[in-house]
Amino acid sequence: TLLSDETVRGLGSDVATPPYDRSALRAGIVHIGVGGFHRAHQAMYLDRLMREGKALDWAICGLGLLPGDVRMRDALNAQDGLYTLVLKHPDGTYEPTVVGSIVEYLYGPDDPEAAIEKMADPQVRIVSLTVTEGGYNVNPVTGEFDLGNPQVRADLTDGAVPTTSFAYVTEALRRRRDRGVTPFTVMSCDNIQGNGEVAHKMFAAFARAKDPELAAWIEGSVPFPNSMVDRITPVTTDDDRAMVAERFGISDAWPVVCEPFAQWVLEDRFADGRPPYEDVGVQVVEDVMPYELMKLRLLNASHQAVAYFGYLAGYRLVHDACQDPLFARFLLAYMDQEGTPTLRPVPGVDLTAYKHTLIERFSNPHVRDTLARLCAESSDRIPKWLVPVIRENLAAGGQVRLSAAIVASWARYAEGVDEAGEPIEVVDRLAEQLTAVARTQGQDDLAFVRDRDLFGDIVDDDRFVGPYRSALASLHRDGARVTLENLDDASM
Ligand code: NAD
Repeated sequence: TLLSDETVRGLGSDVATPPYDRSALRAGIVHIGVGGFHRAHQAMYLDRLMREGKALDWAICGLGLLPGDVRMRDALNAQDGLYTLVLKHPDGTYEPTVVGSIVEYLYGPDDPEAAIEKMADPQVRIVSLTVTEGGYNVNPVTGEFDLGNPQVRADLTDGAVPTTSFAYVTEALRRRRDRGVTPFTVMSCDNIQGNGEVAHKMFAAFARAKDPELAAWIEGSVPFPNSMVDRITPVTTDDDRAMVAERFGISDAWPVVCEPFAQWVLEDRFADGRPPYEDVGVQVVEDVMPYELMKLRLLNASHQAVAYFGYLAGYRLVHDACQDPLFARFLLAYMDQEGTPTLRPVPGVDLTAYKHTLIERFSNPHVRDTLARLCAESSDRIPKWLVPVIRENLAAGGQVRLSAAIVASWARYAEGVDEAGEPIEVVDRLAEQLTAVARTQGQDDLAFVRDRDLFGDIVDDDRFVGPYRSALASLHRDGARVTLENLDDASM
């Protein structure tokens, strides 16, 4: 029988279930983009607080805006919002928890008015987001809000029924202002550098195009705290569903599996209070930036370092590649020699331990994260995570040899054919364009990095071009593995 408030009571003692009275919870947060990560992260932290009898008026109302969210609506609504979160420890232990912090789920297109009114409800004091990097509608060329996006344009016409998060959020804020209700805080939990600042800029830009006065009010009164979020959460598979049913006797349409590690560093800027997150291990700080640089330039950039080389070398799962000493050495060398020199001091973090923990996390055989996931949307990732490392090292006279090789591995991967001649499915908003350019590399080996929208002017610097060229030539001539071996010999 399906997981629900009723059936959860009958589960075995090996499953942690909500010990608190869910009927007493009140929604204080509307979350847009309830996917795997939100359910492994923010919803989990709230569930922990609720287990301590705290944050009972900070439960979550999920909000889906895209057609793909119909499945989540149906899954969660059939289960009273409950789902199973399974932590997969490296030793093979699985730790299941039924999470109870999501009490409601709305699919916007079913009733946009109801969703907006929910956000306008004074009881709701935070609107949080995990809508992916692309969900912020940043024009990659200008860094500004993309007013050319057809959905945004439709949302900007008078009397339009909202479709984008920008329209939902700004309309809800307008109603709060008009009614004299304190605004909610907009809390981005996406993997974007300065996620709060980016959200601020984009939501304000939409509001400005719609109603300049409202925009001014938002600028003056809505906080957008920055945060750094971390927990590797792969896409749920049918095997995961079967595992949850077999091992724990839970019939769950959409469980979440993830690694045991979780981290959240959050700025303390809220309009109308917040849950006492620090009581369950969240680092609440003045300035998130040093932590975020650490994460983006060590964890996320290392993911890019293993993704294309690993895929080209024939690996498909992240842990298989990271358990290979050649790859582990490459990642550590990148982090030590090129990532770390660009970081600021990170209070309270032992960087050496952090880097080794990263390799251990990536090597966890039970998480089964795929290289394909890490290879997706590279054009949103490499320019944000790795290119700044290259730029800063060039500016400081530092080394860029390994970063250049990582960029070359993406250029090689983007050709869309692996080393065995099999097609690669390049998942990227720019896939067509990237593959077309990558296939001209035989004639012009710098073609890929000439794209200044993606790479800025690093192609003008010989200190980058030299190692980039030689890595790309080696990838074509000798393949990924030998390329790494040669980089390794040259001092890794
Ligand atoms: P997911 O695909 O499971 O969920 C993404 C959700 O975002 C879906 O509900 C989708 O409908 C919604 N969404 C996407 N684009 C949108 C848009 N333009 N407007 C409104 N909603 C939109 O993905 P996930 O694994 O939950 O990851 C989501 C984000 O969380 C990532 O992009 C990243 O920023 C962050 N994150 C993920 C991980 C991870 O390991 N999965 C780790 C750290 C941070």
